[in-house]
Amino acid sequence: MARPLVAIVGRPNVGKSSLFNRLVGERLAVVDDTPGTTRDRLIAAAEWSGRIFDVMDTGGIDPASGGPGHKGAPLSVDSADYIREIRAQAEFAIQSADAVIFLTEVTSGVTPADQEIAQLLRRSRTAPTQPPGPLPRPLREFPPGEGGELRPPVFLAVNRSETEARRQEAVAFYELGMGEPHPISALHGTGVADLLDEVVAVLPQAEAGEEDERVKIAIVGKPNSGKSTLLNRLLGEERVIVSPIPGTTRDAIDTEMEYGGLPITLIDTAGIRRRGKIAPGVEKYSVLRAMGAIRRADVALLVLDALAGVTAQDAHIAGYVLEEYKSVVIVVNKWDLVEKESDTMAIYTRQVRQELNFLDYVPALFISALTGRRVDQVLPIALQVQEERLTRIPTSALNQLVREAVTRHPPPSHAGRRLKILYASQVRTDPPTFLFHVNDPELMHFSYERYLENRLREAYPFTGTPLRFSFRKRREDT
Ligand code: GDP
Repeated sequence: MARPLVAIVGRPNVGKSSLFNRLVGERLAVVDDTPGTTRDRLIAAAEWSGRIFDVMDTGGIDPASGGPGHKGAPLSVDSADYIREIRAQAEFAIQSADAVIFLTEVTSGVTPADQEIAQLLRRSRTAPTQPPGPLPRPLREFPPGEGGELRPPVFLAVNRSETEARRQEAVAFYELGMGEPHPISALHGTGVADLLDEVVAVLPQAEAGEEDERVKIAIVGKPNSGKSTLLNRLLGEERVIVSPIPGTTRDAIDTEMEYGGLPITLIDTAGIRRRGKIAPGVEKYSVLRAMGAIRRADVALLVLDALAGVTAQDAHIAGYVLEEYKSVVIVVNKWDLVEKESDTMAIYTRQVRQELNFLDYVPALFISALTGRRVDQVLPIALQVQEERLTRIPTSALNQLVREAVTRHPPPSHAGRRLKILYASQVRTDPPTFLFHVNDPELMHFSYERYLENRLREAYPFTGTPLRFSFRKRREDT
């Protein structure tokens, strides 16, 4: 099961990103910055009372821009765009999240924009007769009205309630009809613990022994790169058997299918837009939607438009794939439109990898979803990537490999001390994670880590999959 998702919604300037940062805390930056790529975090993992969940900042996308990272002029509170923006945000949260934190702010009191959001969130009320449990999305769209639980559950938080006086004022937010207002201070942290206690209590729990055997493949990429065309092609393939009931969940459309006897779930982020479920003008949510799909996926097919090349959106999505240690296949689509010479593919591959900050282990396929060229290679490569993702290297083989690597190219020394690797083991798969016991982790240099990774991949390619290395200090005489 993918981690549960908690969305923060609220009008601009109530402190959504402060709350996001407080919940998420500091997380090690895994991916180094490439100039020109935006690295805003919109979804990140958080932990509370032993529960791990993802937090999504739906306001992290600047309303005035076409995508994340741009710092456009703030929207005027009265503009039609402003209303459209908060509407899109609330709808997106309802569609994607397991729980919603609706953030307001005490000093300005209840504003019309808050009312607007409250009204939208109330629309997700289920009819009182509905059976409990997860409901297919279309059933959740009941007219605003009486009774029923909010699905997803909504927690009203009133920010900037640092003082007792302000906490008293927060009571006024009962007016929104969203239940009890939780006075908090995102900046100072007061009240946040109580809020989180309630939030994690409603998050879905993974059933014990619930192992999803299906390979989950997400099709992501910017609008018009050809995702829908590719999906249709894939479903039309001879070896593909599509189950009669495609499941529709959250912010993507899932198609259950079988390929060569293997059960696969294709997570499609394009189709939902086509179905007209989402208000117009929310194209910018495609990045968030892609992230939502990637969270649930094993392998992401990142579909690029060969003519458009790598866009900022693509780079943003690619950064998230690496951050989450998901596997990825670059699918360069519309290759039929490119004038080719003998080495065009090689040059293009190099360039795309560089721009996406992907290393050589990420495979690239050049297809035409329109003509069908090489589409038959997409699923086989995705499945191969998934199989390698699950590889477990026996400890003895791993240690022999490390010993040989060290002999061939001894580790660096610093101030007269040399790194010693005492023992290595693969502590988990999915993502493949390796723990190295060393004399002093400080002596491990990035370039040496890269060297070890390369040696490892020579024997076990882990095609398309980022590897996680961690180094722990161990006394040499134990
Ligand atoms: P999506 O937004 O990513 O789902 O993109 P669509 O699948 O809707 O495709 C956008 C446009 O690109 C449509 O007009 C498609 O016909 C066209 N298209 C998709 N794949 C290809 C391709 O391989 N070659 C060419 N020439 N056009 C394509």
